[in-house]
Amino acid sequence: MALEHYCPNCEEERTFWQVASTTMHLGEKVKFRCEECNHGFVRIDDVVDTSAEA
Ligand SMILES: [Zn+2]
Repeated sequence: MALEHYCPNCEEERTFWQVASTTMHLGEKVKFRCEECNHGFVRIDDVVDTSAEA
């Protein structure tokens, strides 16, 4: 599973690959990594948190 998203490290749109998913009481927490630089972010349901270190 992959998605297109802005990467703050590359400073452009990149393909991010899903590396893990965890179901929590808040919803489904999914970790993604940039295929170019390995920058990670976390998405909980449909909310992306690029500041979180995945
Ligand atoms: Zn990147």
